Amino acid sequence: MQQLTILGATGSIGQSTLAVLDCHPERYRVFALTAHSRIEELAELCQRYQPRYAVVDNVDDIPRLQALLSTTVTEILAGTEALAFVASHPDCDTVMAAIVGAAGLLPTLAAVTAGKRVLLANKEALVMAGSLFMQAVIEHGATLLPIDSEHNAIFQCLPSHYPQGLAKVGVERILLTASGGPFREFTAEQLTTVTPAQACKHPKWVMGRKISVDSATLMNKGLELIEACWLFSATPEQVKIVIHPQSIVHSLVQYVDGSTLAQLGNPDMRTPIANALAWPERIHAGVSALDLVQHHLDFYPPDESRFPCLRLAREAMAKGGTAPAILNAANEVAVEAFLAEKLPFIAIPQLIEAVLTQLPMSPADNLDTILSADQQARIIAHDWLMQYHSDLVKSS
Ligand code: NAD
Ligand code: MG
Repeated sequence: MQQLTILGATGSIGQSTLAVLDCHPERYRVFALTAHSRIEELAELCQRYQPRYAVVDNVDDIPRLQALLSTTVTEILAGTEALAFVASHPDCDTVMAAIVGAAGLLPTLAAVTAGKRVLLANKEALVMAGSLFMQAVIEHGATLLPIDSEHNAIFQCLPSHYPQGLAKVGVERILLTASGGPFREFTAEQLTTVTPAQACKHPKWVMGRKISVDSATLMNKGLELIEACWLFSATPEQVKIVIHPQSIVHSLVQYVDGSTLAQLGNPDMRTPIANALAWPERIHAGVSALDLVQHHLDFYPPDESRFPCLRLAREAMAKGGTAPAILNAANEVAVEAFLAEKLPFIAIPQLIEAVLTQLPMSPADNLDTILSADQQARIIAHDWLMQYHSDLVKSS
């Protein structure tokens, strides 16, 4: 019986993970569940899965959650240290890292440092601290399995000895597919007036609000490019992005002999989750088989003039050091402002580019430097937002 901690249990990935576990009660047991603010939902999950621990963000939420539980088997904890505690606990075997954004970095690293089997959905952790993160995986013997559908697809298309190096296993290029998001066919003019509700209505996937906006700006693909570079020791030049609106081909690997291997499936996160949970075995995910006759598949290159976030991410990865952490932090502030209707969609890349230009990058050789770059980037991003609003007031 594998004991599982789910960081971010109330989110979209957390729920899909629990749906896969529901199909295999004999294989997996929930050890700990964590949530940020949706305490009622966490209470329901605790009633149902009876975990040893539940973790909330704020200490004040402990009595609130306690009052909602009729069970006494669950001990309730709060805060970042408690997240790290349940992610690294000796009785936990596997950690699903499904917190969104930079908040996931420390608990995910705690799981890695404890040598756990880590199922990584929280791509922002790898974007911020790729080098340290991958070193920690090797040093502590953790097993890192990608949950992002594209990276899970690539993982499935690579031979098991790929950690020796892509060139050694005959890989020429990785093709990362992108749906193109809800604004794929919008003109530059139309993009000036899009709303958060439109951005969060993804044509193919149901996801959390932050990743939905990232998919609409294509920053999600930019973050995934960086994620792929770290996971598979690829250079940014080896990773090519292809728009594929149907989201059936989840990504591809091209080999020197002219072979291209792809992983296909219905767009449903339960497939990569089941793959990573059971790897190297295969288990049912509750997902129906792909009926190819029903699908027409298109592929074309992305348009970076309408979606500049892709270029910003590639440049940040090429710069290296703390640049990807700065990119990520600026993006988080920009997305939050857009969702609060305080920043237009097309100004998201403008804010990110301004922060990257203002804040010099430094070597990302320790966690403090990375966390400080993240904080500084957020301060500059908030200053930029204030300036932006005061300019708006002046011009109106
Ligand atoms: P979501 O918003 O639906 O859920 C986020 C979870 O994180 C929630 O449980 C929330 O309580 C928790 N959380 C949020 N802020 C927190 C904080 N400050 N401290 C502690 N916990 C916090 O997000 P999601 O769509 O499930 O995405 C989670 C991660 O998985 C993201 O990194 C995303 O990029 C990645 N991912 C998601 C999908 C998808 O289909 N949803 C696909 C690929 C990768
Ligand atoms: Mg993805």
